[in-house]
Amino acid sequence: MSRPPILMLHHVEPGPLDPPPLHLNSYLTRADFAGFLDDLAARGLRTLTCAEAFQPNPPRRSVVLTFDDGCRCFRDHAFPELQARGMTATLYVVSGALGGTNHWDRAAGERTEELLGADDLRTLATAGIEIASHSRHHRDLPACSDAELAEEIAGSRADLEALLGAPPQTFCYPYGHVDERTHAAARAAGYGAAVSIHAQPGARPGDPWAWPRLILNPGESRFERRLKLSGLYPLWSRLPRLGILRRLRGRR
Ligand SMILES: [Zn+2]
Repeated sequence: MSRPPILMLHHVEPGPLDPPPLHLNSYLTRADFAGFLDDLAARGLRTLTCAEAFQPNPPRRSVVLTFDDGCRCFRDHAFPELQARGMTATLYVVSGALGGTNHWDRAAGERTEELLGADDLRTLATAGIEIASHSRHHRDLPACSDAELAEEIAGSRADLEALLGAPPQTFCYPYGHVDERTHAAARAAGYGAAVSIHAQPGARPGDPWAWPRLILNPGESRFERRLKLSGLYPLWSRLPRLGILRRLRGRR
């Protein structure tokens, strides 16, 4: 069954970013994000939540936008642009860090990002945003013991059910890291689907519990973004692109 492309984002900020982040590729400007949404609308593409995309027969000409970590910039900059266009998204939150900061990134030297708290998540859920699980503590799951895995995957599902009144339908592996044990734990916890990242070793096209998402990067061309929306990007990314371009130029 064909599924819509699932894109991965982290931050939408107006810029300039002060202090500058280590991982600039995780930050889209609000203007860039708004322009991307306008392009989706102009092409008649509809946004779905991740949970909707994994229902039987999802609508054609649709796309899923996912945001990892649940930062305040989603509420302040991404959500208003989505809402203005009647669009939706899935927000993957770390259930043990609500209202806190991105401590897992801070340990690697990244700048501090404030995370959304329980009230904000309830408001966003009421407005049609899918609030789903990105584990409890953002650990590298394949390195966890079985007990820790259960805490991170099933525990975060229970946390969000208590918060929102219904269990989250989908799960997002921190860092996209998934192996056989984490895959089995996500299924056992009752999620309907779980997402990773394109080109991560455990990601498997067609596998609803190891789904490869495509990263939406700042500064990429409209052509590259349209490839990602078309479903052709995974194939394109495997081709020796430079060689093809050289051959095409040689034909001029
Ligand atoms: Zn994350």
